[in-house]
Amino acid sequence: MKNVILIRFNEIHLKGGNKKYFTKLLYNNIKYALKDIECKIENIQNRLLVRDYADEDEIIDNLRPVFGVHSISKAIEMDNDIQGIKDYVKDIKIDKTFKCEVNRADKSFPIKSNDFAADLGEIILSHNPNAKVDIHSPEKIVHIDIRENGKTFVFYDIIYTYSGLPLGENRDGLLLLSGGIDSPVAGFCMAKRGLRQDLLHFDSFPYTSPQAKEKVITLAKTIQKYIGAKYMYVCSMTKLQEEFHIHCSTEYAINLLRRSMIRVANIICEKYKYKTIITGESLGQVASQTIESLTTTNSVAKYPVLRPLISFNKDEIIDIAKEIGTFDISVLPYEDCCTVFLPKNPVIKPKISEAEREEGKIDLEHLLNFVVENIEVIKLDD
Ligand code: ATP
Ligand code: MG
Repeated sequence: MKNVILIRFNEIHLKGGNKKYFTKLLYNNIKYALKDIECKIENIQNRLLVRDYADEDEIIDNLRPVFGVHSISKAIEMDNDIQGIKDYVKDIKIDKTFKCEVNRADKSFPIKSNDFAADLGEIILSHNPNAKVDIHSPEKIVHIDIRENGKTFVFYDIIYTYSGLPLGENRDGLLLLSGGIDSPVAGFCMAKRGLRQDLLHFDSFPYTSPQAKEKVITLAKTIQKYIGAKYMYVCSMTKLQEEFHIHCSTEYAINLLRRSMIRVANIICEKYKYKTIITGESLGQVASQTIESLTTTNSVAKYPVLRPLISFNKDEIIDIAKEIGTFDISVLPYEDCCTVFLPKNPVIKPKISEAEREEGKIDLEHLLNFVVENIEVIKLDD
């Protein structure tokens, strides 16, 4: 008998012919998540196992952020042997209501699930005078999972994790990461659907401080375990913002900045082969997130812009930010490039034609080339 960690997945089961591919992906992602811990990972039919480790809680903490993992249990592994399982169950100590639940994945196991559960329940009752069977709402469930590989796993608790799909092999997404609450959550939400992402941050040094940049790097490192990021591009918008400020309508300032962010993202996507841009925008949250504002920003995008938070309320976003550990960092009071040269009355229903006219007042192409040439690439630690 051995202590193991049993890992279950759910959505992968629906993948038909691609199930093997997704299971392999999940296996590799788990291997990466546990790379600094001595242990063995094994792929058995419809389950993954971790064995030969020192600290089971450390393993579980490292498995929690891995998308595609549906649930985890600390389990005891034994052979699919009727007497062996009965002998083990005999020593279980229970002084409350319980039930046994048998899952017979190994159809060659000679006793039907319900019959075996009843047999095991009897054994537990006979060795535990204070135990009582309650089928409907037991205080404890003894799970007996009889698998196809000749092994049975006995466990009590099931820890449910984020599910979703395993992160893909390629970093296909470029997440526009600000220092705010929303964008780290947006990255998390897209990663839940298997989108691996790198990061793009805009600052306006010296109007924004080095601490503001440090804060974003801390955010990047915090979400790295979820989104699989390797690189963060930091792009200074100072020169562009100054030109907008001097030559263009102030009420279009944010709109012009947003369009420039997308244009820079286009260039990075093209150069480094990202396939989609992700932002933390939420409909109606601020003037720059009305349908008209999103339309003027979208009109310059050469890649799909994914906005997973579009229908989220702020408190829903905050709940996730707290859960993933970014909230306390995001609320640190440093300025963002969007707050520099902030207009008093930003346009709420901008028009593409107006935005283009404003852009015509400066040498946008030249300025964009300048900012892109000066992008800093930060390699995030593995
Ligand atoms: P919050 O709304 O919590 O202040 P936010 O990150 O959502 O933070 P917004 O001003 O609402 O900030 O910006 C909308 C989206 O635009 C962000 O979610 C982010 O994807 C992108 N964005 C804004 N500022 C920056 C920036 N400085 N660098 C990179 N992306 C940014
Ligand atoms: Mg926001």
